[in-house]
Amino acid sequence: MPSGAWPTLDAGWVWLCGAGPGDPGLLTLHGLNALRQADVIVYDALVQKSILDWAHPDAELVYAGKRGGKPSAKQQDISLTLVDYARAGKRVLRLKGGDPFVFGRGGEEAQTLVQHNIPVRIIPGISAGIGGLAYAGIPVTHRDVNQSVTFVTGHDQSGETTKLNWDAISKGSQVLVIYMGMKHIAQITKHLLDAGRPADEPVAVVTEATTPEQQVLETTLGNIVADLEASELTPPAIICVGRSVHMRQVLDWQGMMAGDAPRNLDPLGRGRPAEQP
Ligand code: SAH
Repeated sequence: MPSGAWPTLDAGWVWLCGAGPGDPGLLTLHGLNALRQADVIVYDALVQKSILDWAHPDAELVYAGKRGGKPSAKQQDISLTLVDYARAGKRVLRLKGGDPFVFGRGGEEAQTLVQHNIPVRIIPGISAGIGGLAYAGIPVTHRDVNQSVTFVTGHDQSGETTKLNWDAISKGSQVLVIYMGMKHIAQITKHLLDAGRPADEPVAVVTEATTPEQQVLETTLGNIVADLEASELTPPAIICVGRSVHMRQVLDWQGMMAGDAPRNLDPLGRGRPAEQP
């Protein structure tokens, strides 16, 4: 990394940084720059452990895991821990999975820091709902499929299915990317079917996206509940609903790297370009 051009993490500051969905190579250069400087790194369950190998050897690594349904550090405790470290003059890196401002409570943490007069820097990351799907060969937008995409969470603060207007979401967006959707998949699917989405609409479930453990289930709205029950898939998972899932038939680049042939060169029926002579 060229010296001089990169920001310095000063004592008493907290940098709130996205670590990307898993693959360490998806961390940003600002993230790497932060890891090399921080005295204290407070990281989440979804942060791939090998990313921490880039930490300064003397850095204190503090786990602040939050996994749905399991006992975990309270949000306010985490924010106040960051305040304490900063006030003790540490250079603090708060590392979160994906992007800190996408369903990650990063906004709340940053707000608490500012309320306590702690200076912050925000470092975005690649969100699982975009990068994770790309690793599964699914583009979140495609001209033949969607002009909008909706990112939605499968449950709200109370842990229940959100009081979202599923009818409006179903009708308003051709592609839905659902975070934290596994627990309530039966209700979510029912909402979507009730709102008129077809039972044969393609759905992909991508677990542990971008890691060596990544698995992809291709199914339909009508079959997803039974197929998930029959599978051994567990969270974290991104669920993508929409015809862009078909693109995986031609864009499963990880499968192709492993020697698989593309299943269908023209899954959306857009016609193939004329052969070049
Ligand atoms: N800030 C994160 C999202 C945090 S919410 C981001 O931008 O990606 C946690 C949810 O994100 C998980 O329940 C899951 O739905 C999704 N998620 C995060 N990392 C994932 C991964 N590697 N594979 C699949 N889903 C992931």
